Amino acid sequence: LLTLCFMNAFAQRSCGSLEPLKKNDPVLSEKLEAQEAEIQNWILSHGNEKTRSIITIPVVVHVVHNGEPVGTGTNIGDPQIYSQLAIMNEMFRLKNTDTLPGTHPFGPLQADCQIEFCLAQQDEFGNPTTGIERINGGQSDWTRAQLEATLQPATIWNRDLYLNLWTAKFGGSNSGLTGYGQMPSAGPATTDGVVISYSGFGNVGNVLPPFQYGKSCAHDIGHWLGLHHISFGTMYCEDLVADTPPAMYQNYGCPAFPHNPNNSCGAGANGEMFMNYMDYVDDACMVMFTHGQAARMNAVLGTVRSSLLTSPGCSATTTSVNDHAGSGGIVIYPNPSSGEFQVQSSKFKVSSLDIYDVYGKLVYEKTANSNQVRVNLAGAKGVYLLRINNNTSITKPIVIQ
Ligand code: ZN
Ligand code: CA
Repeated sequence: LLTLCFMNAFAQRSCGSLEPLKKNDPVLSEKLEAQEAEIQNWILSHGNEKTRSIITIPVVVHVVHNGEPVGTGTNIGDPQIYSQLAIMNEMFRLKNTDTLPGTHPFGPLQADCQIEFCLAQQDEFGNPTTGIERINGGQSDWTRAQLEATLQPATIWNRDLYLNLWTAKFGGSNSGLTGYGQMPSAGPATTDGVVISYSGFGNVGNVLPPFQYGKSCAHDIGHWLGLHHISFGTMYCEDLVADTPPAMYQNYGCPAFPHNPNNSCGAGANGEMFMNYMDYVDDACMVMFTHGQAARMNAVLGTVRSSLLTSPGCSATTTSVNDHAGSGGIVIYPNPSSGEFQVQSSKFKVSSLDIYDVYGKLVYEKTANSNQVRVNLAGAKGVYLLRINNNTSITKPIVIQ
């Protein structure tokens, strides 16, 4: 017990995310440069994240265990999973109770990222689900290489429609790992999600200090949404976000403010923003994303990960198994579109269509009596809700670019 306490007291965050360094791979370099330009353009044209509507990302949690009863060891219980989703919805909406006071020099930089999460209500084939998958992996612990080679590809749900979260016990050379997230375009589609140590997931159940408050998910989902570490790996000082002060190295434990004031990166008198989710401090001390980070994550959701905006994953479904046309037999294509798209129904004739903006204002209506309806919503831009009417109504999100 003494050994365990000793180890916990000195456990440091260890993130396995690989930050793609452009210089190492010329092909990836070109792709990442184009992607970065797209992200920066999106930020320039969309501005402050407060002008955007809230995005809800469907989540599937894959619990990787070794045959323990539910709630025991790595087979973490449902309450631990629910606690993590609740914490995510606090952290990405600035609803956490441990935010910096407004009088703190970094207080005004804290951002509501306008991103929320749901446990998936329907799987990628339109079947009802709890959003929780329990997988007996047949071994007690895992290296990142093992997870990426076999387990993640075998269990991932369509990464274009879901955030895949895995919980597992890290072992071998990765026994000290807290988690890792795959940055956009930085790896194959078969591993494109986030893996978190089972003992650093949520804030109840089998959690262990100093990662017992569910903060690792903010850090690694941050990576998955395009955020770099505050000090960006080996390219110290720069994280491609303007309002995070330049940091020299990762910070651990719980530093006192101000930390590394006037560092040689040019941080100024307030020093480094160690309390940011993208640093390496303990759960008790990381409390914030900045407005710049929020804009960057929203830019990734507006570009390279935009297919998530129209995922039906958060909607309950009553359709039968193997309804490959999607929920309700409705297909909308293309989606996202430039304003011109088709609505096709395999189960009923559409009597009429209405389209509403995110404030609920009617922007388009069309009467029809057909299984296939063409829509031309010229001049629109953003996320809208399409209501498809026959005897009842089905509402689907659409994106116009
Ligand atoms: Zn990291
Ligand atoms: Ca910065």
